[in-house]
Amino acid sequence: IAQFSSAAQLKPELTPNVLYSGIFINNEWHKSKSGETFPTVNPSTGKIITDVQRGSKVDIDIAVDAANEAFRLHSPWRTMDASERGRLLYKLADLMERDSLYIASLETLDNGKPFHQAHPMDVTLSIKALRYMAGWADKNHGKTIPMDGNYFGYTKHEPVGVCGQIIPWNFPLLMMAWKIGPALSMGNTVILKPAEQTPLTSLYVAQLSKEAGFPPGVLNVVPGLGDAGAALVANQNVDKIAFTGSTQVGKMIQQNSGIGNLKRTTLELGGKSPNIILADVDIEKAVEAAHNAVYFNQGQVCCAGSRTFVEESIYDEFVERSVERAKQRKVGDPFHPETEQGPQVDEDQMNRILGLIKEGVKQGAKLVHGGERHGDEGYFVQPTVFADVEDHHILAREEIFGPVQQLMKFKDLDEIIVRANKTNYGLASAIFSKDVDKINYIAQGIKAGTVWVNCYNILASQAPFGGFKDSGHGREMGENGLSQYTEVKTIIVSQLQKNS
Ligand code: NAD
Repeated sequence: IAQFSSAAQLKPELTPNVLYSGIFINNEWHKSKSGETFPTVNPSTGKIITDVQRGSKVDIDIAVDAANEAFRLHSPWRTMDASERGRLLYKLADLMERDSLYIASLETLDNGKPFHQAHPMDVTLSIKALRYMAGWADKNHGKTIPMDGNYFGYTKHEPVGVCGQIIPWNFPLLMMAWKIGPALSMGNTVILKPAEQTPLTSLYVAQLSKEAGFPPGVLNVVPGLGDAGAALVANQNVDKIAFTGSTQVGKMIQQNSGIGNLKRTTLELGGKSPNIILADVDIEKAVEAAHNAVYFNQGQVCCAGSRTFVEESIYDEFVERSVERAKQRKVGDPFHPETEQGPQVDEDQMNRILGLIKEGVKQGAKLVHGGERHGDEGYFVQPTVFADVEDHHILAREEIFGPVQQLMKFKDLDEIIVRANKTNYGLASAIFSKDVDKINYIAQGIKAGTVWVNCYNILASQAPFGGFKDSGHGREMGENGLSQYTEVKTIIVSQLQKNS
């Protein structure tokens, strides 16, 4: 929040020019082979921003060939010093910083997220992610191994090869940075398929990668729909798929990655994260934190605190205060400095959220605030609060991906651990309390990739992020994120005699 308030001074470009809408292969812009395009829409108005070249199988296959050529032995990329790969990534981060106001404005136009959050969050964290990964480029050491026999062994961490990366629309730029940062740092080549709702910032960054000096074919960006992503998964000359998106598509990708060549996969999927509030908290602070945990980014966050469990003795007051806070939430023009909540990304998402709200009411959850569309232009949804949500309700089971808070009551610690884990997901969780013993007890019991304590939605380049169970596998960022982009090669050399 402090970060956001300092961003209030920043001036967005209210009508950023769209400079790139093509397919980026071998550092050049191309039209789709089919001649088809698709529109990308401003979710604040429902109007088309521009038409984008629609990549399909044939374009994907050309991009994969380019990435393989860039990865061949003796290529400029393969023979480049690791430190130089790092320097190119630092340079790309510097160029993004140079153009940060423009990039944040473009993200707001295409995605609808408030500019005064997009700049300090999405753009700044993307730059930080690239710099963090740039620093690792020449530090990912292997080991020497004291082997039995007259042999000398060592390991090398080699790039996996050609990586297909498929990303969603909720954090278009940040998801791109989380994908290309470790891949390029470790010496892989990339074909990135941005989400069809939000292709514009990744196309702009593609052009910046050329300006930074990456050799042709190292980073290719092919905008398109789901069929383009599927073509990437089906291509036998792709070595790895990294995917962020829905669990449904993630499961398909996992299956299809095993047909033909066995592609490595990392999957960052959905969530239904428990946010557990114990009775000893400062209630005002906890209400604010729980509010931001679920409403941040219009609720379109895979790790959103979408099941808020509140201890019985403070439950009624918590509901009352949460409604008051939701009433204050400023919904509207995402370029306005005071806006907290912009539109949902598209009409489908808005309708899906409104449908789930209706279903929730039908099942008996108590709608205590909101529940309707906000205004009649664009895809805005009222901040919505449900009380008395029960574990079997659809609102407690399905990922809503919208500004809808579920307030649920609990009595004791063992009960809450069981209920928190009663989901196929396991992406994130949080505990708010002053009691360190209770915090530790719950933190051990929760099955999730992240446990936040007295904070929420804290993501940093240094800390691994990823899911248990149906929330996916593999980790992004941190040192763990690197291993997903290398193969370990063991080299064993015969020697005449071993001496210690
Ligand atoms: P989605 O799975 O439909 O789409 C994500 C991407 O996959 C898009 O680029 C899309 O074009 C592509 N795609 C669609 N069908 C495909 C197919 N058959 N083969 C290959 N690629 C295909 O998801 P969405 O609706 O864009 O995003 C929302 C979902 O993503 C939510 O469920 C959310 O939880 C999840 N998500 C997870 C994380 C995370 O880090 N775990 C982050 C953001 C979003």
